[in-house]
Amino acid sequence: MIPFQYVKPSKQKAAIDTVAKDDTAMFIAGGTNLVDLMKRGIMNPEKLVDINKLPLRKIEKEDGHVRIGALALNGAVAEDKLILEKHPLLSQALNAGASAQLRNMATVGGNIMQRTRCNYFYDTNLPCNKREPGSGCGALQGFNRMHAIFGHSDKCIAVNPSDMNVALVALDAVVLVSGPKGDRRIPFAEFHRLPGDTPQIHTNLQKGELITAVDIPEHPYTKHVNYLKVRDRTSYAFALVSVAAALDLDGSNIKSARLAMGGVAHKPWRLQEAEQFLAGKPATEASFRQAAEIAMRGAKAFEHNQFKLKLGPNTIVQALKNAAAAV
Ligand code: SF4
Repeated sequence: MIPFQYVKPSKQKAAIDTVAKDDTAMFIAGGTNLVDLMKRGIMNPEKLVDINKLPLRKIEKEDGHVRIGALALNGAVAEDKLILEKHPLLSQALNAGASAQLRNMATVGGNIMQRTRCNYFYDTNLPCNKREPGSGCGALQGFNRMHAIFGHSDKCIAVNPSDMNVALVALDAVVLVSGPKGDRRIPFAEFHRLPGDTPQIHTNLQKGELITAVDIPEHPYTKHVNYLKVRDRTSYAFALVSVAAALDLDGSNIKSARLAMGGVAHKPWRLQEAEQFLAGKPATEASFRQAAEIAMRGAKAFEHNQFKLKLGPNTIVQALKNAAAAV
């Protein structure tokens, strides 16, 4: 770990200006990912700008959406009455992530920004284009059991590790950011990037831009929802495959659906063609199986993650069944 400066401004503008003007500066909030990365020498900011004094913790109902402050803690969001009432899918996804201790330290903004858990990324003795552009991808010909089946490139096959992000992309969330050039709103589906030739850039944030909040629009998915995470052990493990499923039902017919997967791509993976297929269909296993087949089109696995080609559709079907049966 290299020596670094630490500052804790109380004004948002000061925090943004500090990071915007200094190539070696980074924001820190809960630190549950960044501190690990610094200890291992994977990220080496020379200045940390602690944003915990900024007033960004509120969870509020506003006109047409719920706004969650970027510094709201994952555990607090998962247990919040408004979230449980309006966005239970998000609550389920948050509770599936990490451990209780981490959820009580990690923030929403930090969860959005967390880096991949690819083992090669975390081992500075091994090649990794994401950590060191041009060094190669160790996972491509190496041990790639946890890796992507959608949207990968020959430069990187890593996955986004967040559970929360899967629910947020399914629910059409919008990320609010503030930066040196002003404020902007980024649809969640456009926030994270596919690896392409530049896997070292994992989001579309610009230098100095700070996540200030997430808006989740009003929707009818308040009851028939399920976040299903398949992992090697039932706690404190990243997803092999996860599915966020939400149904708006009229009796036993589907009015509309939302569907996204985690553990399968460099970004949370929305399944819009499968959603469109489900609209107007009966909520039966046959419909869910057909939707899963549509969802898996274009999937390409590697030597050690072939099992995801079967686990993926099975998890989609089970999540949809769980969502339909939810009371
Ligand atoms: Fe690095 Fe991505 Fe390859 Fe993992 S999959 S070794 S993160 S380039």
